[in-house]
Amino acid sequence: MFDEEKCTLCGHCLVECAYLAYPEKKAKIEFKKLIEGKPTPVTTECITCCACNTYCPEGANPFDLINQRQEETGTFKVTDQALSNMSMASQLPSKVLKGQLGKPIMNLCTVGDFLSGVIEGQLFDGLTFTKGGDYFCYIGWIHLGKPSKVKENAAKFVNNLTKVANDVGTKEVICFHDDCYALLANKAKEYGIRVPFKPVHIIEYMRDYCKAHADDIKKLNMKISYQQPCASRYTFNKDEMLDELFKLIDVERVPRKYDKMYALCCGGTQGAIANVTKEEVEKWRMKNIMDGKEHGAEAMVFLCPLCTLSLRSRAKAQDLEPYLLSNLVRLALGEELTVGGAGKKFS
Ligand code: SF4
Ligand code: SF4
Repeated sequence: MFDEEKCTLCGHCLVECAYLAYPEKKAKIEFKKLIEGKPTPVTTECITCCACNTYCPEGANPFDLINQRQEETGTFKVTDQALSNMSMASQLPSKVLKGQLGKPIMNLCTVGDFLSGVIEGQLFDGLTFTKGGDYFCYIGWIHLGKPSKVKENAAKFVNNLTKVANDVGTKEVICFHDDCYALLANKAKEYGIRVPFKPVHIIEYMRDYCKAHADDIKKLNMKISYQQPCASRYTFNKDEMLDELFKLIDVERVPRKYDKMYALCCGGTQGAIANVTKEEVEKWRMKNIMDGKEHGAEAMVFLCPLCTLSLRSRAKAQDLEPYLLSNLVRLALGEELTVGGAGKKFS
C-alpha cells in the first residue's frame, strides 16, 4: 500500500524506472499528479514491473499508488487475450493430490502444469500438491491494472489452502510460484488477513533441502544469469536465500546490469499491454538476454514458469542454456532432467 506520509516527492522512483526513465524535474511533477489523482502519462506508460517499490528510498511503495490509479482511471489498457487468459485461470479445475500426512503442501497455483517434466524427483517426494482456480492467488491481476481483484480473492485463497493444510496435518505451505508467496507473505498482511500456516518460498525450501542433503550435492561450477520475477519485489528479503542456495550448488550469479533491484520484466507482462508493440517487447527481451551473455553467463535460470516460457527459446538461441531453478537444483542432486532444463528439448 502506498504510504503518502513517507513520500518526499523526490521523483527517484520514476527516474530509476528502466521503462519511463523520466528526468528528475518531470518525475517530481508527474508523481505529484499521481498523488493528487490528476491525469498523468505514468498510468499508461508504466508496465507494472513493481520495481519502483524497491527504488523508493523511503519505502513508500510508489507502484501501489500507480497501480491504484491505473485501475481508477482505466487508462492502462491490456489486450483482450490477456484479460481472457487471466479470467480463465480462475476457472481451471482444482485438484488436491494428497501426499504423506504431516508433510508440507506445495501450492502449484495455476502454473504447475505449464512446463513438462518439472514436478519430478526427490524434492517433491511425499508432498501434497494443490493446483487450479481454487488455489490461484490472483496476483497476476496487478499486471492487468486491476489490483482490487487480488484483494477481493485473498481471503478465499488463504481459506482454501488452510482447509487442505488442516486436512493433511501440516502448518507449512510451500509456494511454487513467486506470486503466491507475495500474496501470503506480504499482501495478506496489508489486507488484514491472518495466515494460519507458514508460507515457505520454494527458494527457502530448496535451500534447506540442499543444506540437509549436502553430501549428495554435485557442485555445478556454472555461471548463470538469473531472471527475477516481478512479484519478487514484494518479498525482496528472500534474495539472500537465493544467493545461499546458489552457493550450496556452486552456481555463480553473474553481476549484471538487469538483475536484483534492476531486473527487467521477462516480456510476458509487457506483451499483455495493448499499446506496446511486439518490436518493443522483443527489444527489451534481447537487452535482458544479451546482458547476461555479455557478463559471462553460460545459462539462464528462471524461478517462474511464465518467465521460462517467455525467454527460454531466445536464451537458448544465444547459447544460454535455460533452466527452471528447481531443475538446476535437481541437476545438483544428481538427477537426470528427462525433458531438459526448462521443460523443453531443443534440437
Ligand atoms: S512499476 Fe516498473 S514500469 Fe511502472 S513505474 Fe514502477 S519501475 Fe516503472
Ligand atoms: S514514492 Fe518514494 S521515490 Fe517516489 S517520489 Fe515518493 S519518496 Fe520519492
